Amino acid sequence: PGPEMPLFSVSKEVAVGTAMLGVAFATGMLAGKKYPLVFGTPKSSKSIIGKSNPLWQYILDHSLREHPILKKLRLLTADHPWSKMMVSCDQAQLMANLVKLIKAKKVIEIGVFTGYNTLNMALVLPDNGRVIACDINEDYVKIGKPLWKEAGVEHKIDLRIKPAIQTLDELLASGEAETFDFAFIDADKESCNEYYEKCLRLIKKGGIIAIDNVLWSGRVLKPRKDDLATQSIHHLNEKLHRDARVNISMLPMGDGVTLVFKL
Ligand code: SAM
Ligand code: CA
Repeated sequence: PGPEMPLFSVSKEVAVGTAMLGVAFATGMLAGKKYPLVFGTPKSSKSIIGKSNPLWQYILDHSLREHPILKKLRLLTADHPWSKMMVSCDQAQLMANLVKLIKAKKVIEIGVFTGYNTLNMALVLPDNGRVIACDINEDYVKIGKPLWKEAGVEHKIDLRIKPAIQTLDELLASGEAETFDFAFIDADKESCNEYYEKCLRLIKKGGIIAIDNVLWSGRVLKPRKDDLATQSIHHLNEKLHRDARVNISMLPMGDGVTLVFKL
C-alpha cells in the first residue's frame, strides 16, 4: 500500500447542530431501503443528500480531507445565524481539486461570507496565486479573516468590499479580461446572469466557472413569477444549457452546482 493522506474526522462536527431547514422533495432507494433525499441545510454543511441520510455521512467519512484550519473555520461559522450560507465542505473540496487540476493562479470568488471557500482555494494556490474575494459585508468576512492569517495564506487573498459588479467591471477596465483561471459565483442570485457574463469575459479559454445554488432548494422546478431569485437562477440554467461558448455539467452536490468550462 502507498502512503496515506492524513484523514480529518468530520463525523462529530457534522453531527453538531442537526437542524434541517429543508423539505423532502423525493425519495431514493439503496439496498432495498428508502432514504429521504432532502433539499436542505444542516447547520455545519449542506447537501441535497441531507444529514438524516446515512449516505451523507458516508460520503464525508470516505472522501473529506479538510485542512485543520479550514475545519476550524467551518465549525466557527456553524454557530453563525446565517451558517446555512456557507458552501458545503464536499463541494469546496471539489473546487479545490479543480483549482489544482488546472494549475490556477488567479481566481475570483463572488460572495465570501466568512471566507470558508476563500481559504479553501487560497490553500491550494501557488504562493504567487491570488483570490479576488468580493463581498459587500465586512462583518461576515471579519469572522474568517484571522484564520486566513493563521493558515499563512492571507497574502494570496485580495478582498474587495463593494458590490461585486463594480469589482468585476474594474477588473475588466484594468485589462484583466481572459487572465483568470477559475471563478466561483455565490452571491445575490438576482445578479447571477451578470456575474456569469462578466466572469466569462474575465476567465481564460479552458478556465472554469462554478455557479452555486443552481437548484435553489428545488424551487427551480416551479419558479413563482414574484420570486426574482428563483426566476433568475432558472433563466441562467436554461441559457447555460444552450450556451455554445461553454461546456457544462450540472451536479446535484450541495444545493446544486454547475461547472462551466470555457471553450
Ligand atoms: N461563498 C461563501 C462560502 O464559501 O461560504 C458563501 C457566500 S454567501 C452564500 C453570499 C455572500 O454574498 C454574502 O456574504 C453576502 O454578503 C454577499 N453578497 C450579497 N450581495 C452581494 C453583492 N452585490 N456583491 C458582493 N457580495 C454580495
Ligand atoms: Ca451558496
